[in-house]
Amino acid sequence: MEIKEIAAKSVLTPSKLPGVDFVVNPYISCGFACTYCYATFMARYVGKTANDWGKFVFVKENAPEVLKEELAKLKNKGAGKSILFSSVTDPYQGAESKYKITQKCLEVLADFGFSGQVGILTKSNLVLRDADTFKKLKDVEVGLTIITTDDKISRYFEKYAPAASLRLEALKKLNEEGIKTYVFVGPLLPHFVAEEEKLEKLFKEISETGNKGLFVEHINLSKYILERLERETKDLDKSTTAKFYESKQKPYRDRLDEIVVKLVKKYNLKLRSGSTIYHRGS
Ligand code: SF4
Repeated sequence: MEIKEIAAKSVLTPSKLPGVDFVVNPYISCGFACTYCYATFMARYVGKTANDWGKFVFVKENAPEVLKEELAKLKNKGAGKSILFSSVTDPYQGAESKYKITQKCLEVLADFGFSGQVGILTKSNLVLRDADTFKKLKDVEVGLTIITTDDKISRYFEKYAPAASLRLEALKKLNEEGIKTYVFVGPLLPHFVAEEEKLEKLFKEISETGNKGLFVEHINLSKYILERLERETKDLDKSTTAKFYESKQKPYRDRLDEIVVKLVKKYNLKLRSGSTIYHRGS
């Protein structure tokens, strides 16, 4: 793994994501190296290729200072605005244990008195380290991506991310600490159509942590994502791979949607986007 410290020119990036005004990405690339990663296109902006994704991490070492300058330009301490950590990297990947860029940026937000909403999205239980920092923020919500309860499956698809069971434990602890949370179930694994009980186990365990809100997203099989997935999962048996292709068909997704709606109701969860998210053309 190549780790390099770099100086960022800007940190608070305007965003077109629904409900998100700005994103902060403290790192370029991501050591978790998920097989289905959607962010690999970012590699080309730093002279790397999508194949290099996960094998290098650039650390925006000056991000806290730059963020401080950018926040000063916001009106009314950012009232009504939202900032997401992060959209094209994981803010709590391995490098964060050492560099603490995410933590320092959150401290900058707290010291500034940012009055908008701060959202976190991660696959790491390292997020627990910052529980005290979260409590200093006016409005914060911590999201964990969890796609399975099976650690072998999470290890397979999310190679270097902490196991799913550790994320579920982190979710429970955050709820015990009174920190607002949500779960991102994405990608929704296509095999849940045939193995509904496995999705049921996931929703049941999520509800047992005290978490209520959920985003559920169908797998995005855009060309560049599919290429990576095929390259990284060559050893997967054919019947499983076939399910991925099948999930491109609407009737298949409709079946998954029905299961999601049923289980959300059964476990008293709340589907935050109203329905399962699907990227048209994927
Ligand atoms: S954690 Fe997110 S950004 Fe990192 S490799 Fe996985 S999908 Fe990509």
